[in-house]
Amino acid sequence: MAGELGEAMAHSAFDTILVLDFGSQYTHLITRRLRELNVFSEMLPCTQKLSELKFVPKGIILSGGPYSVYEEGSPHVDPAVFDLNVPILGICYGMQELAYRLNPDNVVAGTHREYGHAMLKAQSAGGHVDRLFEGIEDSMRVWMSHGDKLAKLPDGFHTVATSDNSEYAAIGHESKPIYGLQFHPEVTHTQNGTALLKNFAVGICACKQDWTMQKFLEEAIAQIRHTVGDKGQVLAAVSGGVDSTVAAKLMKEAIGSRFWAVLVNNGVMRLNECEQVQRDLSEALGINLTIVDASQRFLDGLKGIDDPEKKRKFIGGKFIDIFEEEAIKIEEAAAHDPTKAGKIEFFMQGTLYPDVIESLSFKGPSATIKTHHNVGGLPARMANGQGLKLIEPLRSLYKDEVRALGRALGIREELVMRHPFPGPGIAVRILGEVTPEKVEIARKADHIFISEIRKAGLYDQISQAYAAVDPSRAVGVMGDKRVYGYIIVLRAVTTTDYMTAEAFNFPWDFLQRVMNRIVNEVHGVCRVVYDVTSKPPGTIELE
Ligand code: GLN
Repeated sequence: MAGELGEAMAHSAFDTILVLDFGSQYTHLITRRLRELNVFSEMLPCTQKLSELKFVPKGIILSGGPYSVYEEGSPHVDPAVFDLNVPILGICYGMQELAYRLNPDNVVAGTHREYGHAMLKAQSAGGHVDRLFEGIEDSMRVWMSHGDKLAKLPDGFHTVATSDNSEYAAIGHESKPIYGLQFHPEVTHTQNGTALLKNFAVGICACKQDWTMQKFLEEAIAQIRHTVGDKGQVLAAVSGGVDSTVAAKLMKEAIGSRFWAVLVNNGVMRLNECEQVQRDLSEALGINLTIVDASQRFLDGLKGIDDPEKKRKFIGGKFIDIFEEEAIKIEEAAAHDPTKAGKIEFFMQGTLYPDVIESLSFKGPSATIKTHHNVGGLPARMANGQGLKLIEPLRSLYKDEVRALGRALGIREELVMRHPFPGPGIAVRILGEVTPEKVEIARKADHIFISEIRKAGLYDQISQAYAAVDPSRAVGVMGDKRVYGYIIVLRAVTTTDYMTAEAFNFPWDFLQRVMNRIVNEVHGVCRVVYDVTSKPPGTIELE
């Protein structure tokens, strides 16, 4: 069952704040901030039926959202939210929703829209500071982003804080732990926003702050053992990247050599990458690894394809074919090995939480909510064709949590901090047709660029960097001879979410040094350019 393992694990072992998403661009930040406080938090769409939850949250946060609660077709929370008897915090739309649920007349369109900073004043009634504002100064800057407002206080509530434009900037129930905030505590523009969320999660909901990767590791191992049993076997494709390496090491810790990692050499990996993966996974981490050298089959098949989409499709499809062939061989070998004995029942995939959030977030009443599956093709084929069940042990984790888990598992820092690398490899870093000659050139140029970045101590400041080959030929003079050579395009970007990105600002002498080494050491290149395009309008990869 997709994801069952990852989901069961976090809920059953950690106090959880459930965030119900009404479609705000900030919703995922609520989850992030709580995790930073070492409180486990998980997001589900606002349409979630609470009776179908597989766990009891310690508290519920209703997020903001672009709709107006009083409009027809706007999303509404399951009324059972009040029957769970756990603390509730509504943020912006979430607060309006709480008020509207109690009485539809409570919410109206405001005359002043409010986007940006506002000064908040906490009301300490009779010297009594509300628990939500405990330890927080009375006056602070907060971030507002709304047009609607509460027309009056819902019955049973009192005002906790006001701002010039919002009489009900924060409200609380007289006797129950139910709160509403008109502003957004989850964005960094709000002063003490994290302290407010902490007061809610830790002070009011009494969540333990034990969401650490050390604790997650112990729980994950126990859970994997429980799911896989003491005979079952698990298969996975690894790439040498952070996610698949961390997931593989976790499986190895849990079930030893009943975990089978397969690396398919598709002929478009980076310089010495197979050897490196062999050293990292097999030698250093002790993972049971099979490397399949299919480079010739890929390079032959790539001949004559210059359309980027076709390249990606070909590589993806061929990859699945080869992986399946190997799975059958492993299955047969395992069946004859009395020390392994059990059947291969599971296929592991390193899906991360942002992919899960992406598929769960509430996109509006008319938008269909995507299924949780990563649509990579491989999981579906393994599940249908081979009858394997999917295990996704990282599906509750953000990227930085995966890195922290990698450290907890003793994976070397350089690998833990590695930049992402596309599945179709350097095939999408060669514009047009992929040939062995161009692959060689891209590999060498990339190796020089990345080594120089590391030497200059810039690697961790950059989110993704690579060298690509532009196959149009430029004229050059080398050794007094006129030559035509390929153009190398250097790309290095910084980004936090990979949705938008900026070109990295290298020192000039750094770029000159890299240019010099590439034209001198990579045969067939006589020109080097640095791509300064941001995303958008560009993309991070060239194809
Ligand atoms: N649409 C609502 C308003 O304008 C809520 C906005 C929000 O949640 N940020 O007030």
